[in-house]
Amino acid sequence: MKKVFCVGELLIDFVAEKQGSDLTQATIFTKKAGGAPANVACAISKLGGKGVFIGAVGDDPFGKFLLDVIKKEGVDVSLAQISKTFTTLAFVSLAEDGERDFVFSRGADRELTYDPSLRKDFHGNIMHLGAATALLGGELEKAYGKYLFDALTKEMFISFDPNFRGDLWKENEQRFIKKCMPLIEKSHLCKFSLEEAQLLSGKDDLYQACDFLHHVGTKIIAVTLGKEGTLLSMDKNKQVVPSIKVKPVDTTGAGDAFIGCLLKQIADMDSFEHLVEDFDSLLAMVAMANKAGAITTTNYGAIPSLPSRSQLEA
Ligand code: ATP
Repeated sequence: MKKVFCVGELLIDFVAEKQGSDLTQATIFTKKAGGAPANVACAISKLGGKGVFIGAVGDDPFGKFLLDVIKKEGVDVSLAQISKTFTTLAFVSLAEDGERDFVFSRGADRELTYDPSLRKDFHGNIMHLGAATALLGGELEKAYGKYLFDALTKEMFISFDPNFRGDLWKENEQRFIKKCMPLIEKSHLCKFSLEEAQLLSGKDDLYQACDFLHHVGTKIIAVTLGKEGTLLSMDKNKQVVPSIKVKPVDTTGAGDAFIGCLLKQIADMDSFEHLVEDFDSLLAMVAMANKAGAITTTNYGAIPSLPSRSQLEA
């Protein structure tokens, strides 16, 4: 089984207890582990795979808490870095209509430095780049570029999820798009939400958006569509794979569960040499990953709701 190296942020989400109040009114917050790449590593490990996290947390109680949480889920944290900068914090409240109010205090995650000694373990494995904060600058962004280069030279399977957060890129969307292009060009697999596919391609029509993004370079595109399922696009082959029916209570982490489950199945393959041409195999994998996404919506919080292998099989 191949390892999946997940590069990016691991942070504290302080989530306001009472839905319906914005951050000016919220008084009680619950501490939760967050960060899309770390969630993906957890999703993979919880399914019995080898998720490895590469990112930085602070040398403080929050950093310790975060590493403990993902380690308990089976993630290999031996490559995580401990920074002198305080752990990254996000404060989140949910409005009555489900809209998020969001304040972000960026800290240790941006301090991840590139470590060339890791290269020796990369060959033939998988690299997942999930970019919620990575493209905002700092050492992390430089490390990102170098790990992408390593992934190309070490014949890794490369996966990219832009994790666009409007709150972080206000009036800077064009910069975000520009920074994503080399990653879309070099990645074998890209996972987008509908909004991301439209934003990055500049096209409203989803099929045209995928054609544009294939033209940039990526061969496999999965566009997650919430309860409608996922569009799998591989050049001219395009199909929406329906999800399963569930009663969702909190959709946080569904996208991370989806891509984690997809990557776990790819990691189980002997070789991914022909995967970029194998539409039928990928359709089956997407159907399984849809299940993982759906199950995650039936509980509160991202990491605690990720399914185990037995849950998924049941
Ligand atoms: P995130 O905001 O976590 O990045 P996302 O927008 O990428 O998430 P979603 O589309 O919300 O991801 O969900 C990922 C997958 O989970 C979907 O493609 C679908 O298969 C499944 N899923 C999500 N919501 C539901 C739902 N309400 N019912 C059934 N399946 C769902």
